[in-house]
Amino acid sequence: MEICVFATLFIFGTIIGSFLNVVVDRTDTKESPFKGRSLCPYCHKTLTWWEMVPVLNYFYLKGRCSSCHHKLSLQYPLVEFFTGLFFALAGWRFLRLPLINLHLFTALNLETMLLIINFIFWLYWIFVFIAISVYDLKKYLILSEVLFPAMMLSFIWRIVLGILLKAHDFIFLPQITHVLGSQSYVFGNYPYFLSLVLGIVISAGLISLLAYFTKERAMGWGDAFVALFIGLILGWPESLMALIIAFLSGGAISLVLMLFKKKTIKSYLPFAPFLTLGALSILLFGDIIMKGYLSILLI
Ligand SMILES: [Zn+2]
Repeated sequence: MEICVFATLFIFGTIIGSFLNVVVDRTDTKESPFKGRSLCPYCHKTLTWWEMVPVLNYFYLKGRCSSCHHKLSLQYPLVEFFTGLFFALAGWRFLRLPLINLHLFTALNLETMLLIINFIFWLYWIFVFIAISVYDLKKYLILSEVLFPAMMLSFIWRIVLGILLKAHDFIFLPQITHVLGSQSYVFGNYPYFLSLVLGIVISAGLISLLAYFTKERAMGWGDAFVALFIGLILGWPESLMALIIAFLSGGAISLVLMLFKKKTIKSYLPFAPFLTLGALSILLFGDIIMKGYLSILLI
């Protein structure tokens, strides 16, 4: 049963990942990603359905276009695969929620609806983070066409969710406020709106200060918007945990690149992929990270 859920989410994720590649590719040409069939980026041949099967197409096409034989970027299968993987992991996270039981899902009540809509937002956030990471790696810029609408929609959802959680007594699930309020992690027990405000202000503030005082050498103003988004969706203190993971992983990779003389201290390393790593680690594994942390403390 669970395997079916993961497999379905994985396949759905690879299809969304395929769309994500189109979004990233078409941003600069200002073409709508919804219009027209998929084309080979080099000879503009329209792809047939069997050439559009995510991930697998790369292998049976042997990484080349069937018409012009131009080498296709590894970006396509990698983005498709990772979107699928993260979607499946989101399903796994959802099934780990302490309040998931059959009792809740026998009828379509308000709790169930909120959990399902929130889960759809998890998938949307995964999409947004992968899109801005790929774009930052390619162009050293933040994909504002994807990030800004996501900020607006997520802000509205977080406010609506907060009001609904305040206005309703959830008889079946007393923990639902806590679970949805902090996106289900257990790092802190802050009231919903305080967690939201602190998450936004401190995350965006921290990266803005770094961008200002390093004159955008370490990270840019675009990264401050990504940090604001992280604060908005994760709340406080989960967003700080995400930033710490981003700093540690970014620092480690910079050091390795410097040791191998690939980069100097002055050359720019895109930071959005590390922010993504931090945010998705907390979103998908926050509970496991916390359990590990607590078990270390208790030894
Ligand atoms: Zn071609």
